[in-house]
Amino acid sequence: MKAAVVRDNCDGYVDIKDVTLRSLHEGEALVKMEYCGLCHTDLHVAAGDFGKVPGRIIGHEGVGKVIKTAGDVTNLKVGDRVSIAWFYSGCGHCEYCTTGRETLCRNVLNSGFNVDGAMAEECIVPADYAVKVPDDLDPIEATSLTCAGVTVYKGLKTGNLKPGQWVEVVGTGGLGNLAVQYAHNVFGAHVAAVDINDEKLAAVKELGVDLTINSQKEDASQLLQDKVGGVNSAVITAVSKDSFTDAVNALRAGGTLVAIALPQGDMQLNISKTVLDGINVAGSLVGTRQDLAEAFQFGAERKVKPIVHTRKLSEVNDIIDEMKNNEIVGRMVVDFT
Ligand SMILES: [Zn+2]
Ligand SMILES: [Zn+2]
Repeated sequence: MKAAVVRDNCDGYVDIKDVTLRSLHEGEALVKMEYCGLCHTDLHVAAGDFGKVPGRIIGHEGVGKVIKTAGDVTNLKVGDRVSIAWFYSGCGHCEYCTTGRETLCRNVLNSGFNVDGAMAEECIVPADYAVKVPDDLDPIEATSLTCAGVTVYKGLKTGNLKPGQWVEVVGTGGLGNLAVQYAHNVFGAHVAAVDINDEKLAAVKELGVDLTINSQKEDASQLLQDKVGGVNSAVITAVSKDSFTDAVNALRAGGTLVAIALPQGDMQLNISKTVLDGINVAGSLVGTRQDLAEAFQFGAERKVKPIVHTRKLSEVNDIIDEMKNNEIVGRMVVDFT
């Protein structure tokens, strides 16, 4: 079967190769891929940024159908549509796995990084960790919810966002666009979107954003303090460390800064503001199986709609170049059907 694998020199691109998967172990299922999205994390893996993994099959935004299960598998059957997410599996018995924080497991496996991933015609998954995709959810859209969708949904939960509260979404790209939709349509929150790109701000305005702010032209934090008394939570999806530093000042007392994007470097945190205003700062990393199941369901209910375009497996290196050149709006999804 054909798969996109990291090159021997880890130069940031992949080779499309014929690969033979091993046979199934107990507890595993074989998935015939329908669609798999390409994510910036895949580019980091292909370039060896998290450690070199030559020969690894990339991909963690996969959706496909089960075509075979090991004899002991009871939760999946042939024909079920499942997802292959970055969170491939945890150990199942550590303090994180047993307290609803399985993505923090110290023995976590990540699809397309330390185990073969979903950018392939077939993929082996641990049946207990393969989250089912609802029938009403478009499988192409499901690929985006598998990664960006669950990441921002979990981030909004981490900020303890409640109906009627204000949330600042910083960055309105692939993550921010979905964050705005979950915040408005699922959490029932008021949303302020901040970016430096007027076109992207105009696009999210249509999605129910109450306030759009171009932070190159206006002081977003000051404006939010003046207009709404500060936000209850700020979710940072922009890959800019200054965005983190600025967003702290947009929070009202008791507010939470949720860090999702991963720029290099440190953020500045004003100590007196943090102490006197009881500010919380939280990192948020993808989501658990339960978070993903919830994120999918809201997609199936049409409350959240990612922007997706389908491409061929042979075009993956072209897509990588387009992503590096920031030429893509929405997500490119390889069609294996
Ligand atoms: Zn991803
Ligand atoms: Zn664990």
